[in-house]
Amino acid sequence: MTSIAFIGVGHMGGGMALNLARAGHEVRAFDLAHAALERVVAGGCRRAGSAAEAVRGADAVVTMLPAGRHVAEVYRSTVFDEALQAAVLIDCSTIDIATAKSVAAEAERRGFAMVDAPVSGGTAAADAGTLTFMVGGTADGFARARLILDKMGRAVIHAGEAGAGQAAKLCNNMALAIGMIGTCEAFNLAQRLGLDPQTFFDISSKASGQNWSMTSYCPIPGPVPAAPSNRDYEGGFATTLMLKDLKLALEAAQGSDASVPLGAASEALYQMFAGLGGAGKDFSAIMKMIDGSWTAPVR
Ligand code: NAD
Repeated sequence: MTSIAFIGVGHMGGGMALNLARAGHEVRAFDLAHAALERVVAGGCRRAGSAAEAVRGADAVVTMLPAGRHVAEVYRSTVFDEALQAAVLIDCSTIDIATAKSVAAEAERRGFAMVDAPVSGGTAAADAGTLTFMVGGTADGFARARLILDKMGRAVIHAGEAGAGQAAKLCNNMALAIGMIGTCEAFNLAQRLGLDPQTFFDISSKASGQNWSMTSYCPIPGPVPAAPSNRDYEGGFATTLMLKDLKLALEAAQGSDASVPLGAASEALYQMFAGLGGAGKDFSAIMKMIDGSWTAPVR
């Protein structure tokens, strides 16, 4: 049995930590939020009173935190000082590439094996243990992290050196945002041209316009029963999280001199939608801004 410190057991980390516990590991969980910690303790994780207590003596450390500053703070103030030298360090948060690289470089200087391993898949995949992990780090770090990541996902892919996991995540989600907006525009135009939405779906999902946003998260209700559009765009992947990833992608594009005009346009459109009250809705709800039917929720 491997003992694993899990720091950050919120919407995503909670399900992930529970899957590690179900796989027979001793999971020492810590979170600043009481309710998040209670949920995983009830499900079989051990309660740690602090990040330091979770990390001390653990064979592995997994973090699932909101942003780069939380990750830098947790590793620099606690993990590097308290973890066993033999422990493998795995950050699954989605953060900026610069912070991921700098924390990994510090880990290496201090003799730790560390990987960045952000995920694709929302809370349902975190709960079900079907996430996709994109991993940045050395071959040795990847091999060691994989033994743990395999218990939380169905695909664990080595993307390259430190920071490459974050790079893959940001590029993937930029493509996702562009694809979703393109799909919304196509459905809107189809309707304006008199096409029945289901008929257009039947055609395009079997033609070259087919993409994940159409066939898994179809932005109009009906054709894909499990899509958030069928439950008033609740659940799923919130616009605010998509916006976070788009901002990180634009920052990375600027830093690498890559031209991303559609990525920038997507960010502007999602920013506009969030400003109109759509921040908490699934990102496919931008359909309603594009077709002109969006009315902001009454607060
Ligand atoms: P969340 O806010 O639900 O969870 C983050 C948790 O970290 C919170 O419970 C918070 O209390 C805790 N935390 C913050 N600072 C801490 C600290 N110093 N010590 C201990 N705990 C601390 O967020 P989430 O939705 O679980 O997302 C986590 C990460 O996963 C983010 O980087 C997000 O971008 C990424 N992600 C989220 C989704 C999604 O669908 N929610 C999908 C893919 C990736």
